[in-house]
Amino acid sequence: MIQTFKFLIQGSAQEPYEVSFGYKEGNLTATCSCPAGSFGTFCKHRMKVMAEPLSSKFFQDFKNVEIENLSELRKLLEASDVWEPINAFLKADKALEQAKADRKKAQKAFEKSLNN
Ligand SMILES: [Zn+2]
Repeated sequence: MIQTFKFLIQGSAQEPYEVSFGYKEGNLTATCSCPAGSFGTFCKHRMKVMAEPLSSKFFQDFKNVEIENLSELRKLLEASDVWEPINAFLKADKALEQAKADRKKAQKAFEKSLNN
């Protein structure tokens, strides 16, 4: 039996995007109605549903989100083939954000040293 979940997420377009998940025996698939997602390439909407913590900020972009569905999806995600690659991606993404912050700081110090 395939379990399915749908979430509406507000993106840059006026209409919210629909992110759909299907789960069967450890295999998780996800589609999104945004332009990138329609071509099966990376999109932040699918990522958002799967990866962000369950904080109040998290729900700001969701329309009529069913929290039960979301926590059920996360359980399935952990048991699926997506869990390892998504965590590898998040780790790399975090390192990238840290590197960007470090670069900004270094650039400011460099500018300051030139002007003093
Ligand atoms: Zn999308």
